[in-house]
Amino acid sequence: MTRRRPAGIKTPSTILLLDQIEEGISRRQVEVDIAELDLGEGDFRLVGPLQVGYRFNRSAQTFQVLGQLRGRLTGECCRCLEPVEQELEASLQLLLQRQQFSGEEREAVTADEDVELLDPGAKQVDLKERLREAVLLELPVRVYCREDCKGLCPQCGHNLNSGPCACAADQADSRWAALRDLKLS
Ligand SMILES: [Zn+2]
Ligand SMILES: [Zn+2]
Repeated sequence: MTRRRPAGIKTPSTILLLDQIEEGISRRQVEVDIAELDLGEGDFRLVGPLQVGYRFNRSAQTFQVLGQLRGRLTGECCRCLEPVEQELEASLQLLLQRQQFSGEEREAVTADEDVELLDPGAKQVDLKERLREAVLLELPVRVYCREDCKGLCPQCGHNLNSGPCACAADQADSRWAALRDLKLS
């Protein structure tokens, strides 16, 4: 179900409103606008929104956050350069802590990069950077349109997945010609 947000003021979809998270375990499905993630230009682009399924476990001012991210990628097959669409899956995990710490406790906990300390009065957290990192981590180096992609003919650039090109026929012809020459001599 997609709901249109009113134009003008809108809360970025990467923001988590802490007081809306119930005590105990709860789940939420969010559509993240990929434009909000500033992924930059790479060999692969995400198309459509990123679907994020959150699982929260709240205990007073401590929020355990697990996120499953799903999106669609487009890019070019590294052999034949045809467009390819692929599923992207990623995940994130962190602990949000909204309370005062003693100096010692604070030190212990900030050593863990999956823990984020929040001011006691914090109402929201922007997960943009975390989502962005999670996606970048899963972006493939290269994709293939299919496992046995035959690629392009190095001579004429013809896509060999759609059959042989004239170059292959020329080579065969020259072999026949050589045979003919042999017989004639
Ligand atoms: Zn290919
Ligand atoms: Zn060719």
